[in-house]
Amino acid sequence: MKTQVAIIGGGPSGLLLSQLLHTRGIESIVLERKTKDYVLSRIRAGVLEQGLVRLLEEAGCAERLHAEGYVHDGTLVSYGDEMFRVDFTEHTGTPVIVYGQTEVTRDLYAAREAAGGIIEYEVEDVVINNADSDAPYITYTVGGEPRRVDCDFVAGCDGFHGISRQTIPLDVRREYEKVYPFGWLGILSETPPVNHELIYANSTRGFALCSMRNENLSRYYIQCSLSDKPEDWTDEAFWQELKRRIPADQAAKLVTGPSIEKSIAPLRSFVTEPMRYGNLFLCGDAAHIVPPTGAKGLNTAASDVHYLYNGLRAFYETGSREGIDSYSEKALKRVWKAERFSWWFSSLMHRYPHQSEFDLKMQIADLEFLRSNKAAQQAMAENYVGLPY
Ligand SMILES: Cc1cc2nc3c(=O)[nH]c(=O)nc-3n(C[C@H](O)[C@H](O)[C@H](O)COP(=O)(O)OP(=O)(O)OC[C@H]3O[C@@H](n4cnc5c(N)ncnc54)[C@H](O)[C@@H]3O)c2cc1C
Repeated sequence: MKTQVAIIGGGPSGLLLSQLLHTRGIESIVLERKTKDYVLSRIRAGVLEQGLVRLLEEAGCAERLHAEGYVHDGTLVSYGDEMFRVDFTEHTGTPVIVYGQTEVTRDLYAAREAAGGIIEYEVEDVVINNADSDAPYITYTVGGEPRRVDCDFVAGCDGFHGISRQTIPLDVRREYEKVYPFGWLGILSETPPVNHELIYANSTRGFALCSMRNENLSRYYIQCSLSDKPEDWTDEAFWQELKRRIPADQAAKLVTGPSIEKSIAPLRSFVTEPMRYGNLFLCGDAAHIVPPTGAKGLNTAASDVHYLYNGLRAFYETGSREGIDSYSEKALKRVWKAERFSWWFSSLMHRYPHQSEFDLKMQIADLEFLRSNKAAQQAMAENYVGLPY
């Protein structure tokens, strides 16, 4: 097969890039390691910045998002029984939209299928060949059968565990990483959310997040030990622990029920530089990871897609290479700001092993400053709703 852009990975980054390119008549083929059902079974992000919403509109995939998504004008932050609100709309004029990553991906799959886009599922042994030449090609197998795609450009959208990043030679690639000494135990339950806005809770027992997908679907997280397993936690134990970590008035109105999904995610900050090697461009989790505190993962993947899509579009429409040549630099500038925000918010809200009394006092002082200072709230709001592309 031959195409203009070969996209490795059929997660949100790969599908969004493919659909945006399609709106400009640029061909692509998406290669996905798993089945569509598997990709749609992953419960992940749920908070969308306006930048991602605009890209989905441009891709013609925002109808259901606007009909079913929830506009959140602010968020709640608690420590002990104290709780305050950071108003996004007051400080930035912009809300965020709560709409699950699963639904974003479902809408993108539907759009690709309606347009007759090629997505190859269950691909194995994917190798990017001649990435640093003008004639890269991908080899892979499906059901043991060897296949090949020739292309102009390769978009590596295959997530943190994909092969695209590994294709960049070690003497070119530089990696920066921080692994946090805890994870997030998350459950999904068919219960009404405890609050219509998210609650980020710092408690003496560790962090908790009360989040939601819709009026009868809640997503809750508690900070847990990295050695914990989801099966160690009964639903009852989870609910009891969550109640201890959020303000008493919220705990009193928490509606509990059986979990329909339970999983543990480790927390990591990670960036690889550069995000381009020849005609291979890394996009999304393939190039960077943030801890989920502050909901920047999917949104930062979207800003990469924005820069890459516009670079490729300019190349095919005008012959200009400026956008693709500056892709890595532009994308990384925004990536590092999102990394900073996620790292700061994670540091503020979690309990760390061996945290000193001084460190704990600093966290509380930081929270009290945020509670009482409009400029601090504005800085948080600007980062939370998404810095401009
Ligand atoms: C528990 C959790 C909560 C999160 N919450 C938020 C949030 O609230 N807000 C937010 O913005 N972000 C959040 N994130 C992060 C967000 O989910 C990711 O940033 C997002 O999925 C990145 O999309 P992606 O397409 O770049 O990568 P992925 O979603 O990882 O997609 C990569 C795709 O590539 C495929 N693949 C891998 N290797 C290969 C290969 N060799 N060949 C072909 N295909 C391959 C994979 O199967 C996958 O489908 C969360 C993540 C987790 C785990």
